[in-house]
Amino acid sequence: MSASISRRKAGEDAEVIVVGAGPAGATAATYLARAGLDVLLLEKSTFPREKVCGDGLTPRGVKQLIDLGIDTREEAGWLHNRGLRVVGGGVTLELDWPDLATFPPYGVVRPRQDFDELLARTAQRTGARLLEQTTVTGAITDERTGRIVGVSARAGAEKAPVSYRAPIVLACDGVSARLALSMGIDKNDTRPMGVAVRRYYTSPRSKDDYLESHLELWDRSDPAEPKLLPGYGWIFGMGDGTVNVGLGILSTSKAYGSTDYRALLRSWLDGTPEEWGLREANAAGKIGGAALPMGFNRTPHYSSGLLLVGDAGGMVNPFNGEGIGYAMESARLAAECVIQALARPEGPARERALAGYPLALRQSLGSYYRLGNIFSRLIGNPAVMRVATKYGLPRTTLMKLVLKLLAGLYDPRDGDAFDRVITAATRLTPSA
Ligand SMILES: Cc1cc2nc3c(=O)[nH]c(=O)nc-3n(C[C@H](O)[C@H](O)[C@H](O)COP(=O)(O)OP(=O)(O)OC[C@H]3O[C@@H](n4cnc5c(N)ncnc54)[C@H](O)[C@@H]3O)c2cc1C
Repeated sequence: MSASISRRKAGEDAEVIVVGAGPAGATAATYLARAGLDVLLLEKSTFPREKVCGDGLTPRGVKQLIDLGIDTREEAGWLHNRGLRVVGGGVTLELDWPDLATFPPYGVVRPRQDFDELLARTAQRTGARLLEQTTVTGAITDERTGRIVGVSARAGAEKAPVSYRAPIVLACDGVSARLALSMGIDKNDTRPMGVAVRRYYTSPRSKDDYLESHLELWDRSDPAEPKLLPGYGWIFGMGDGTVNVGLGILSTSKAYGSTDYRALLRSWLDGTPEEWGLREANAAGKIGGAALPMGFNRTPHYSSGLLLVGDAGGMVNPFNGEGIGYAMESARLAAECVIQALARPEGPARERALAGYPLALRQSLGSYYRLGNIFSRLIGNPAVMRVATKYGLPRTTLMKLVLKLLAGLYDPRDGDAFDRVITAATRLTPSA
């Protein structure tokens, strides 16, 4: 940040306010500050803090870290993995991440406690002004135009009321989307949602070159009628003697809402081999859970001075529940548009630049997410799920294609035949 070039007007506290310093907010703030803008980054908690997550990134997420300038080598504390181990339908497949021009050939695992602080400190070092313990309670709007002109918040241990003003605000406050809601932007219930729960265990499986996913999740709460659920369980080795184990279920099944996810996690783990150690006695901490807002479930992504980024804009991939990389990807696109907007005078020219954000999102993810929304409805049908695991899984070639599709790891420009199939399928699907 360079104060001398600040275009701040009288009464404004920053050129941009970013609400929430998770992956979306910290990434956006870094790009904005790097462009010389005066950025205020407001975060309700204090780093380091825990975030309930699987802690895993596919190469698509790692690309975002690399773009941001983060050193992702193992020497810098990142645990690399070389692919995905898929278990289900009586088979186990190890699928290496594809070798592509666009994405690195490795994924990473890192606890969010550490990961989020690293990104927030990067934003701070770049010049963003991070205010922790600052909970945003709502938007301040211009009475005449309805446009957001700032935010109100509660700051510090004493929760003192404060307010901050800026001409552009980024909502990066996660799935609660409190700021968007305060502007009347609701979620779209026709888009899929997920629910995921996770817990850490001490386990001999802590060192693993693959992220492991279990595709058959049975709800046996009614023993007379076990149900195959649309979702998957994961076991991610953390490399430090523990594993992150969890499961995620899609909203498209009948079981959604009526399932006890914590009990489901326990009953799945009770069925795993004793020697993996995934038993109560080895649990480190409690089971945590949260919702996964998918497939652009909150729009418009830009209106009246407010941009929705990351979970606040429903950026989670409906194919696999991955959200960190997409939060960062949307943050980068948002920052690019805001940088262009603030280099123009207030008015139609600036608005045109800001309207570029939803367009850029649609261009990069719209059709893929639309396809994902259809996919999630399909696998919400237990019969489809059963056929897919029984007949699809044993076919390695088919699974390689599925991996590329599910993890968004296809190269639209110079990929192989699979990449061309997926790119063609996304082109046939209108963007969301
Ligand atoms: C159990 C589970 C497992 C998951 N596993 C994975 C995984 O392995 N890989 C993956 O890629 N994704 C995973 N996800 C999804 C991923 O966690 C999210 O998509 C990602 O965190 C979204 O980033 P974000 O920055 O948009 O939101 P968040 O990470 O939620 O960050 C929002 C930030 O805003 C702050 N905030 C919230 N409200 C306010 C307010 N009112 N005022 C100020 N600050 C506020 C919060 O404290 C937080 O720091 C998982 C999710 C769950 C629930």
